[in-house]
Amino acid sequence: MSGALGTPERVEGVRARFDSVGIDAFLVTKAPNLRWLTGFSGSNGLALVTNETVTLVTDARYGVQAAAETATMGFPIEVRITNDPVTELTAGTRTGMRLGIEADDLSVARFQTLDAALDAELMPVSAVVETLRRHKTEAEIALLAEAADMADRAFHQIWGLIGHDLAPGTTERRVAAELDHLIRLAGADGPSFDTIVASGPNGAKPHSRPGDRVLEPGDLVVLDFGARVGGYGSDMTRTVVAGGCPSRRQLELYEAVRVAQQAGVDAVADGVPEVDIDRACRTVLAERGLGDAFTHGTGHGIGLEIHEQPILSTRSVGILHVGLVITVEPGIYLPDFGGIRVEDSVVVTDGGCTPITHSPKGLVPVFQESGTK
Ligand code: ZN
Ligand code: ZN
Repeated sequence: MSGALGTPERVEGVRARFDSVGIDAFLVTKAPNLRWLTGFSGSNGLALVTNETVTLVTDARYGVQAAAETATMGFPIEVRITNDPVTELTAGTRTGMRLGIEADDLSVARFQTLDAALDAELMPVSAVVETLRRHKTEAEIALLAEAADMADRAFHQIWGLIGHDLAPGTTERRVAAELDHLIRLAGADGPSFDTIVASGPNGAKPHSRPGDRVLEPGDLVVLDFGARVGGYGSDMTRTVVAGGCPSRRQLELYEAVRVAQQAGVDAVADGVPEVDIDRACRTVLAERGLGDAFTHGTGHGIGLEIHEQPILSTRSVGILHVGLVITVEPGIYLPDFGGIRVEDSVVVTDGGCTPITHSPKGLVPVFQESGTK
């Protein structure tokens, strides 16, 4: 495992934003933000960041874990164990202090409790930590690549179940369970999100849930899945034909999506507007009369969350930078036909990008059977 995840730059980055968003201190409540900032991965906790201190407040179940995880961050974090976090916050804030709260996370009930108890002025702010999380360090990229590698291996093995030797009675649910199992056996903490296995007409729903539909030879099957390692989740989609015998129309439509996806990947580089990636994919599909069949955005950042900044769509306004890790995943969805989506995760570099997902593409993927990796 390479390098420590935590660095003082993380908390310095948060403090550097205090002035621009008009706060004196910041209350972190959103779990992935808490983990990124303090290392703490438990289910109950919050952190108070002032210009001088970082305090993690959690309960006694997490005392040992919180001490161990915060110790890896490279800057001092005080851990407070209590069943009464509000009192702890009251002690840590003062009258008139402008305390930033995470507007996209804090519930109304919790806001009201804090507002009644604290003399500080609660200031709803958005994306303070999320913006910093866009850029991945080498250690974060290493975890994402490791997770992607595990998913690649799982895909290779799942092809044995649904490819040339499709076993009779194989359901979407079975394939999803096998994929999740293979991902864990590969060494992952688990799948990075609910695995999608969408066969035949179900493929026309971009986020179909795996059910009891039995795969038939000739079905298109959309597999969208990833592995989670150290909190970081990979994301990849491959579309294959069950039984490994595609029709001419399936091959034509697949080629359109594959070319669109490659155009998107080819457009990725440092300094490129995010919207250009979306446009590159959309143009290819539109030229083939499939513009209306591409019904979602083109991609998203991955990291501690499976969908994080930046979001790549027609409405994107940001710029790509070195160190972002994003997906490129155009797809087409035709109700009487099914769906085709191809998704890779790539690291933005100076002159382009480096994919971290390496599974072969094609309705009948061809794996290199060398023993090396
Ligand atoms: Zn995906
Ligand atoms: Zn995705």
